[in-house]
Amino acid sequence: MTPKIVRFIRSEQPATPCLVLDVDRVEHNYRAIRAAVPPAGVYYAMKANPARPILERLAALGCGFDAAGIEEIEACLAAGALPGVISFGHTVKKTSSILRAHRLGISLFAFDSEEELRKIARAAPGSRVYCRLMVANDGADWPLSRKFGTSAEEAIRLLPLAATLGLVPYGVSFHVGSQQTEPRAYADAIAEAALVFETLAAQGLILGFLNLGGGLPVRYREEVPGLDRFGETIMQALARHFGHAMPEIGIEPGRAIVGDAGLVSSEVVLVSRRDPDPGAPRWVYLDIGRFGGLAETEGEAIRYRLTTEHDGSETGRAVLAGPTCDGADILYEKAGYHLPLSLKAGDRLQIETAGAYVSTYAAQSFNGFTPLAEYYL
Ligand SMILES: *Cc1c(COP(=O)(O)O)cnc(C)c1O
Repeated sequence: MTPKIVRFIRSEQPATPCLVLDVDRVEHNYRAIRAAVPPAGVYYAMKANPARPILERLAALGCGFDAAGIEEIEACLAAGALPGVISFGHTVKKTSSILRAHRLGISLFAFDSEEELRKIARAAPGSRVYCRLMVANDGADWPLSRKFGTSAEEAIRLLPLAATLGLVPYGVSFHVGSQQTEPRAYADAIAEAALVFETLAAQGLILGFLNLGGGLPVRYREEVPGLDRFGETIMQALARHFGHAMPEIGIEPGRAIVGDAGLVSSEVVLVSRRDPDPGAPRWVYLDIGRFGGLAETEGEAIRYRLTTEHDGSETGRAVLAGPTCDGADILYEKAGYHLPLSLKAGDRLQIETAGAYVSTYAAQSFNGFTPLAEYYL
């Protein structure tokens, strides 16, 4: 929670639930990632939080954007980004979206299948394309492993095909899984990508681009290795595998750009002792839950740090749940949360480090609840 956010909540007492995000912190994070991995151009994965003030600040800093669809491309163009810094990074795109992106001047596209490559060749001839590899997602709290990417062998087959289809076979990408807590995951993935570069170079095809994807973690309830550790590991792996022939490097952080820049301020709706056993946990119902934006609590995968005005006083076990009538709207039952015993209905509870993957996950008005309000400071 930054001082700006503290002041805003204290002076404005905004109605809950709301996301409050400090855009200066976004700039700070962008600069920290640039410093940790100096050769890498940053393409902000805007799905993490596509709010206009964030896009405008990053565009003004010269940051690039990883967009998943035509609407995201149009949003970052409207925020001042130039087409040349935008990557159409989804490997599954509508032909109509590829056509429109091409007309808007986008010339960098991801793919992971022959069928998608042929779509790009038809709708955006002459574009640069990069092939997404499927890499291990071990160590990631929010893995993406199975849905996207292909094998090194298939990349080695498809990139030369791209050339024959009139595209520029530009490079390779991967994603080590979101909230990746193990720096080695990047080193292993870089080694795998290097194999593709070397095999194709031996055939006379020189690739020019290595995209390290997203995955850099933020600190939620548990400690994670710092950005410096990730930077060192990545830089060592790049030096080892690419040495003097370093290609253009890209990195696509989402969570690490916006996660710790914001928090969700919520209200406790009810604290109930549903089980008379004094050792049983209390049930704490908040005015935001799984459907109000906290989708990453699915499987209790992302465990947010929670703060209240009673912090420092005696605590007891708690189950946390959202406000809707849906049985799946339980945030944490097994993760072992403890909250102050003095917590009561009407109190504010802050969900810290909630700047990423919350605002756009909110349902329209399930059970009639108003969607999350957003304040960008
Ligand atoms: C979601 C996504 C990212 C961002 O991942 P983080 O874990 O938030 O850094 C980057 N690249 C692609 C292709 C993505 O889909």
